[in-house]
Amino acid sequence: MADDVFRTVIEPFRIHSVEPLKMTTAAQRRAAAERAAYNLFQVDAIDVLIDLLTDSGTGAMSRDQWAAIQRGDESYAGSPSFFVFRDAVQNLFPYRHVIPTHQGRAAEKILFSVLGGRGRVIPSNTHFDTTRANIEFTAALAHDLVIAEGLDPRAEHPFKGNMDLARLDAYLHEQGDAVPCVMMTITNNSGGGQPVSMANLRGVAEIAHAHGKPLFLDACRFAENAWFVKMREPGYADAAIPDIVREMAGLADGMTMSAKKDPMGNIGGWLAVNDDELAAQCRNLLILTEGFPTYGGLAGRDLEALAQGLTEVVSEDYLRYRIRSTGYLADALEAMGIECIKPAGGHAVYVDARALLSHIPPLEFPGQALAVALYETGGVRSCEIGSVMFGRQPDGSEKPAAMELVRLAIPRRTYTQSHIDYVIEVFDQVRGRVSDLGGYRIVEEPPALRHFTAKFAPLT
Ligand SMILES: *Cc1c(COP(=O)(O)O)cnc(C)c1O
Repeated sequence: MADDVFRTVIEPFRIHSVEPLKMTTAAQRRAAAERAAYNLFQVDAIDVLIDLLTDSGTGAMSRDQWAAIQRGDESYAGSPSFFVFRDAVQNLFPYRHVIPTHQGRAAEKILFSVLGGRGRVIPSNTHFDTTRANIEFTAALAHDLVIAEGLDPRAEHPFKGNMDLARLDAYLHEQGDAVPCVMMTITNNSGGGQPVSMANLRGVAEIAHAHGKPLFLDACRFAENAWFVKMREPGYADAAIPDIVREMAGLADGMTMSAKKDPMGNIGGWLAVNDDELAAQCRNLLILTEGFPTYGGLAGRDLEALAQGLTEVVSEDYLRYRIRSTGYLADALEAMGIECIKPAGGHAVYVDARALLSHIPPLEFPGQALAVALYETGGVRSCEIGSVMFGRQPDGSEKPAAMELVRLAIPRRTYTQSHIDYVIEVFDQVRGRVSDLGGYRIVEEPPALRHFTAKFAPLT
């Protein structure tokens, strides 16, 4: 571990291979936004300068991960790369069955194809969008039971991703047999990348198990969550990160996972469960849609890269830098009066667009307006997490989301501090003309996950 006599938390790596960024003018960016129907998912990445759309699959792999790729064994069945991957997963998450998938949503699709269905209801602290969509696709319902502080952007709470335990208990009493499992998202992505405490997870596990329900982790950012536990939860300051991860894993009965997050992959995911019968059902579906159980939707080389990534992400030097670099952006925005979810999350800064663009009503999508303005002004791509993403109800009606956020997700090990300083400057410019920004309406949308493909038109 580093001496702690220096204030500057540096990137604990140096750059080994670089990618060029294309500079664009504001006029070019306005034209690109219009061509994309003001949906930033539809903008070509080449026209983006700093891409904070997501931290999913966008991280930089390490020298050792690229080296591991050379060890990839592409045997169809029983590849040694599978066993390397399985052992790396089980070292942190000791579940009996590890089932690789091409990404997290494939694991969700398989799990909820088995556990979901009409009449079923599934609680979580907050379901991520693909989780919710995969549950709803089976005609089951997804319910969010995060603590009240988790919905208040200004509330300072060390573990805003926690589940409301009293509500969970009441929910399980009320819904009884309709509940096939309880989910817990660590960290709580849709709720601001906020962590869950060990004590809360233990409480959730006790309640779920008392009702005879299995608990599954949506564990995409398990290492960031573990770092917050170490920093913030009494009794964990001296605990090793892998031990914290194993303790959390041991409270649950399985997990869905996107390896594009903390496992440092550009692709990948897995489903892991203890229950033999459930695993057998999931493997049967896996073979239909993903592939043979020793590769899932992945190449042997991907499995090797992920196994190596799992050893790197639990490094304390990495996690200290990671969490500090997110906090650095949040602190700078706060200092210029731009309200963010507090405290800053692990992988992203969530700007409160409702507060900044208070003249735009929720169903005119203030988050979308801010995201488009950041792109047009400085080529910074972010992601609305508000009424565009969550406003459409299963019955087709519109309801404002709990919060109107713009997420600035920080890819792992990808951008330097000067890139982030530039982002801060872009915000400063947008802030200066916030009252000129207008809302948007949706002119075309698909039935599910509309934020990826919906077309927008400016209202002014
Ligand atoms: C990214 C993510 C998923 C889905 O994973 P993909 O790999 O994108 O399919 C599920 N849950 C959470 C919390 C996520 O962040």
